[in-house]
Amino acid sequence: MKKGMIILIILIIIVSCFCILKNNKKEKVKKEDNPYQEFKFYKKDYLERYKNYQLDYPSLSYKDIVLRVNMNLDNSFYTNTKEVTEFNPLMLVNKYNYLGKDFQVPTLVKVDEFAKEGMMLDKDTKDAFIKMARDAKDNGLNLRAISTYRTYDYQANLYSNYAKTDGVNNADTYSARPGFSEHHTGLAIDIDNITKVYTDFKDTKEFKWMMENAHKYGFILRYPSDKENITGYIYEPWHYRYVGVKVATYIKEHNLSFEEYYYEFLDN
Ligand SMILES: [Zn+2]
Repeated sequence: MKKGMIILIILIIIVSCFCILKNNKKEKVKKEDNPYQEFKFYKKDYLERYKNYQLDYPSLSYKDIVLRVNMNLDNSFYTNTKEVTEFNPLMLVNKYNYLGKDFQVPTLVKVDEFAKEGMMLDKDTKDAFIKMARDAKDNGLNLRAISTYRTYDYQANLYSNYAKTDGVNNADTYSARPGFSEHHTGLAIDIDNITKVYTDFKDTKEFKWMMENAHKYGFILRYPSDKENITGYIYEPWHYRYVGVKVATYIKEHNLSFEEYYYEFLDN
């Protein structure tokens, strides 16, 4: 009887220990179950945001969850914004990253060919554009820059006119608020083919040529139709951004938006 009791107590102790160990292990696995941290662009301060975004978008890959939260897409456009203070040819200006009223492009030059009067661009952007427009011309095609560098005040005026006639919500889908326009960087160009209004650029031979060749000169289509949720802009077949040949080629080959490229490779 006594012996039996002792064996029973020992058994209870062993089973208890086993259960405690098992629970501990479970707890440990749960804590370490962080699928986001394998990416080099993972930010540990954002862990809760990743988890919450995953709940809202359960079908997205872990990589996309991390990238999109890093892009700030879990906040509405124009909230939780950040000022960009230095010019960089690969800078990102969008609905979360803005330029101050006094931001200057240090490399601004006039565009004296293939452009409307008074256009200005970053020098490398201008040189690449002229080269592209010349080659297009050799193929019987006309590329013309119709809107390039814009000042803060110009954009403020433009946006407020759109907002007045179309309402803020509509204006926000196609026009940037002042400071948030990529045109303020001197790295963006709106292009037409002279004969058709720019909003019909997608129906031109010039657009088809651009889709096949723009990356060879360092340009990307900045607001593609399948990236509206990321860029916050409707499809703009006329708006191109200079990023250099290497980056433009990578973006084209991998069908990325500039945001996706930027947050994977350039965001520190
Ligand atoms: Zn534009």
